[in-house]
Amino acid sequence: MGREEDERRVRRELHRMKRRKQERIRQLLTLGLLCISALIVAAAVLVLAINLIRREPVDPKTVSVPDNVTISLLTPNPYSRPQTPLEEVKGIVVHYVANPCTTAKENRNYFEQLKNQTGEDTTSVSSHFVIGLEGEIVQCVPMYEVAYASNNRNSDTISIECCHPDESGKFYDSTYQSLVGLCAYLCSEFDLNPEDVIRHYDVTGKICPKYFVDHPEEWETFHEDVKKAIRALD
Ligand SMILES: [Zn+2]
Repeated sequence: MGREEDERRVRRELHRMKRRKQERIRQLLTLGLLCISALIVAAAVLVLAINLIRREPVDPKTVSVPDNVTISLLTPNPYSRPQTPLEEVKGIVVHYVANPCTTAKENRNYFEQLKNQTGEDTTSVSSHFVIGLEGEIVQCVPMYEVAYASNNRNSDTISIECCHPDESGKFYDSTYQSLVGLCAYLCSEFDLNPEDVIRHYDVTGKICPKYFVDHPEEWETFHEDVKKAIRALD
């Protein structure tokens, strides 16, 4: 009799242990599921936050030039308008033409005639915009194509060449005001900061635009003027 009771007690005990074990497994599974759910929610929140912070780059094809720009696009050619797509604009590079007293049209035509080059010793140069001595702006290359002006930043910047009356490279006020206005417009269209407007000098160390390399304080003033012009656009 005592032996049967012992066996029953052992069976009961085994049964209890089994139930406890099942209960523990259930608890662990619930905890695991909770952890996985929490991780999924956290990942979703993170992805949402990243998407909110990271602005989609502006497609240059969707940006038009301002009304005061004369569009005079170069003929497609390997030396000044290779038609390489410019997919994203991350900055604006300012240059001076280094050829005193030449006009915007003359500089544009210089880029244009590069298409006639033959032989091995060829020059490849161009610019999206040229600003003349009277502040006139000529567009030579569409903003969704690469221009040959800023070396390793050709692939992600818009270039602006500026005309000047003498060797100092200082721009006339008319040229300066057009430059400020165009840079402000482009900053606003491409979601750029005034600091994204750089000198050719900042890319390669070339003395270009000369006056703003020789007078860095004037370059600071220029950034301030672009900042003000952006605010005026809003
Ligand atoms: Zn330059």
